[in-house]
Amino acid sequence: MLEGKTAIVTGSTSGIGLGIATAFAAQGTNLVINGFGNRDQIEDIRSGLEKAHGVKVVYHGADMSKGAEIADLIAGTERDFGHIDILVNNAGIQFVSPIEDFPIDKWDAIIAINLSASFHAIRAAFPGMKARKFGRIINIASAHALVASPFKSAYVAAKHGIAGLVKTVALEGAEFGITANAICPGYVDTPLVRAQIPDTARARGISEEAVISDVMLAGQAIKEFVQIDQVAALAVYLASEQAKTITGAMLPIDGGWTAR
Ligand code: NAD
Repeated sequence: MLEGKTAIVTGSTSGIGLGIATAFAAQGTNLVINGFGNRDQIEDIRSGLEKAHGVKVVYHGADMSKGAEIADLIAGTERDFGHIDILVNNAGIQFVSPIEDFPIDKWDAIIAINLSASFHAIRAAFPGMKARKFGRIINIASAHALVASPFKSAYVAAKHGIAGLVKTVALEGAEFGITANAICPGYVDTPLVRAQIPDTARARGISEEAVISDVMLAGQAIKEFVQIDQVAALAVYLASEQAKTITGAMLPIDGGWTAR
């Protein structure tokens, strides 16, 4: 279905991004993967995807907090593959703190990586997509693009910002065969989620077990973490021909959290 297309998946050395990259590779999509981590492990991921699925996979180490490096990621992909069909803006970080203590550098980093990086990537990829009259822009936002939780001011602000960006880009891309959407997962079982359990426990003065049962999954009607492959399957669908009239949408995959 997506054979021969080219996708960039930012933040794909771990978690949801790695799952999405793997799902696209399984569709025959050539890939640019990105993200931090151990060089040998990243090379194992890159070559493993190539061998398992017979696609071309390139790693680009752009720091998604830096506009110039994002521009190079897009230009390098166009150079290596000739075109970008699918752009998955997934890289993200989290920090949890009451707002009066929220470190300013953490605010700046979250806004840069979780919001501005998508702007820089879309801005640079848009001319090529317009010229080819095809593009699929998929942002991995969050249920926190639709509702808030305490102690996550920067993350919630950045993800709500993604909602505005996606809707605007959907309108600008409509006549050029470009769709832009956001997937809004609830709690997915990944390193990012695991890492915020101790901070949330400290901020709320409760145990780590209580953070999982009473905080993280409290809002979800379905008391299960969302699985990475479920998010990846939705991303693959949004990239497909069948999804060509889905645009400007914020799509929850959150066990009913935002239904309340
Ligand atoms: P993760 O920590 O497992 O992976 C994050 C990825 O982003 C890694 O590859 C990391 O190297 C990369 N990254 C971080 N900073 C970067 C930077 N400056 N430049 C380039 N790459 C960078 O996290 P995850 O849980 O897989 O999260 C992925 C996305 O999904 C994020 O945008 C997150 O907000 C969103 N999300 C996650 C959940 C969840 O429950 N895990 C829920 C909703 C939304």
